[in-house]
Amino acid sequence: MIVLGIESTAHTFGVGIIDASKKRYGEKAILANAKHVYTTEKGGIIPIEAAKHHKHYKQAVLETALNQADVNFNEIDVVAYSRGPGLAPCLLVGLETAKQIALKANAPLVGVNHCIAHLEITQLVCKAKNPVLLYTSGANTQVIAYAAGKFRVFGETLDIGVGNFLDAFARYIGLGFPGGPKLEQLAKKSNNFIELPYSVKGMDVSFSGLLTNLKQKIDKGYKPEDLAYSLQEVAFAMLIEVAERAMAHLKAKELALGGGVACNTRLQQMAKLMCKQRKAKLHVPPNSLLVDNAAMIAWLGYLQYNAKPVKKSKIKETIANADIKPYERTDDVDVTWR
Ligand code: AMP
Ligand code: MG
Repeated sequence: MIVLGIESTAHTFGVGIIDASKKRYGEKAILANAKHVYTTEKGGIIPIEAAKHHKHYKQAVLETALNQADVNFNEIDVVAYSRGPGLAPCLLVGLETAKQIALKANAPLVGVNHCIAHLEITQLVCKAKNPVLLYTSGANTQVIAYAAGKFRVFGETLDIGVGNFLDAFARYIGLGFPGGPKLEQLAKKSNNFIELPYSVKGMDVSFSGLLTNLKQKIDKGYKPEDLAYSLQEVAFAMLIEVAERAMAHLKAKELALGGGVACNTRLQQMAKLMCKQRKAKLHVPPNSLLVDNAAMIAWLGYLQYNAKPVKKSKIKETIANADIKPYERTDDVDVTWR
């Protein structure tokens, strides 16, 4: 069973190919996970520009993935794509590409939710069973878990995503994009903790007040490395607090990390410590599966298809009816595969 997945919700255009036969469980199931990432030196993502980027690179990324996996179109059994949440112009490029491939392969087309894909990939590569996911990416910051028939959001950011927060501060001090990894390096140069606003409201977090406060401190002459160190301590403690509260509420014994910010070793360390104290297991996929990627889309596509196979006579219908859902909420998704 070969599944090809397409990711295009934001800055990343990716094509992933997995072999979902049982013999190849684990990371070995991932035959290819190719991508090209749109980056900007100044400002955030401009949706139309990111979509142009995706159009420009889609053929090359597809060819790289097919070559790496050593798979041709006839061997593809299912095509999956990110239907949302994400930027509409970017999602449309992914949908268009997925439709073309599905037609060529005569394979059914399955739309999947990007946030849930971040959670479910931990099942394939870390053998997670029913984890709480701390999903920390550029645009998204959510604590997600499966409970009572749905993937539910137990806490989330009330304003910007933690990655956007890191990137915005990094840009302010001239570090360029993406700022998260650069701030992580800078933070290593200090252990001088500076008090910063800690903003957890119930199960939710917020970062815009912290960002304003940090900018004011830079303008007053505080050292960038002290602020980089302190902001990681504060922002990540906020995330770990809400993740822990969700785990306590659900009596969960597993935590999984997802999203680009989870590449941060300090965040991983804090998660590890919290899990140890709770006697819970921590699942951290490799960085290539933490960031936006298409292998996770292929895997969730497989789970959905496996739970609800498509008859040969209905393949064309799945392709014709496929659409994007830019504002799809995690708890809107009809879970057929658990
Ligand atoms: P994603 O949207 O999930 O692909 O993640 C992109 C975000 O992850 C960007 O905001 C990056 O700055 C952030 N990021 C990547 N690596 C790190 C890191 N080592 N520490 C903190 N943030 C990171
Ligand atoms: Mg993501």
